[in-house]
Amino acid sequence: MRIDLHTHSRVSDGTQTPTELVHAAVAAGLDVLAITDHDTAQSWPEAARAAGEVGLTLVRGMEITTLHDGYAVHLLAYLPDPTYPPLRAMLERILEGRSARVPAMIAKLRALGIDIDVADVQRVSPATTATGRPHVADALVDLGAVGDRTQAFRRYLNAGRPAHVERYAAPLTEALRVVGGAGGVSVVAHPWGRHGHDRPDAETISALVDLGLAGIEVDHQDHDDVARTRLRGIATDLGLVVTGSSDHHGTGKIDHELGCQTTAPEQLERLVALASAAAARSGRDAPGVLDA
Ligand code: AMP
Ligand code: FE
Ligand code: FE
Ligand code: ZN
Repeated sequence: MRIDLHTHSRVSDGTQTPTELVHAAVAAGLDVLAITDHDTAQSWPEAARAAGEVGLTLVRGMEITTLHDGYAVHLLAYLPDPTYPPLRAMLERILEGRSARVPAMIAKLRALGIDIDVADVQRVSPATTATGRPHVADALVDLGAVGDRTQAFRRYLNAGRPAHVERYAAPLTEALRVVGGAGGVSVVAHPWGRHGHDRPDAETISALVDLGLAGIEVDHQDHDDVARTRLRGIATDLGLVVTGSSDHHGTGKIDHELGCQTTAPEQLERLVALASAAAARSGRDAPGVLDA
């Protein structure tokens, strides 16, 4: 049983349609796929249709952009009711922040002498609900200003680079509460992928568990062996679910092929049971796993 619980389609910053992503998952030998676009559930209906047709088990999820103590934390939310008003409002606000940032980044790039417009970004990302830096990067590639997304981030878009613009992120504590209220279950994505091994540290993760955090994405390409060993230890100490996933973005991110990291079946079972319990508690009509 091969299970990949973190992937992106063109609805956010992946390069495949939800249908193409589902078909690619089957081709990669996966039995279970979670689609987790940034800050939106827009990909779910198409992904569910495609998964039903090919007999792939689908876990509907999203990756929510949050902030905690001044640093970015990506929160994977599985099986929340997307119609829960506080969740809708939270995502709406994040998506507005994403949209507002695009013209600001374009203005900075233009000030650097690059002839780029908002229309160039729209042209390369017609299917996107959650516009982000990767789409600005794609426009830069399209215009011949850089060779690929990575170069665009390194030269212009990463924090500290000249076209970087901050945007709104939901407080992590609020996101945990809202996901639980929506009958979903929360897993912190690649916690030690970018900021070293102490943001969040073990103590912080423990405090987040009290607020509803259920799991840690331990096996991720951005985690080295030391990070994985320590995170697995923290998960064991706190009784948390351990996941592993590709964070696939189609051709948008190298070295994140579907199924390159996977989740153990018993860990998925725990997640699904926790989501069912959350849905029962909240009384929300949360989606179950779409079985093959
Ligand atoms: P944003 O959500 O607009 O702030 O952009 C962050 C997203 O950009 C992340 O979710 C990654 O998927 C993507 N990203 C970050 N760095 C790179 C990179 N070097 N190459 C490609 N994609 C990247
Ligand atoms: Fe992404
Ligand atoms: Fe992420
Ligand atoms: Zn991701």
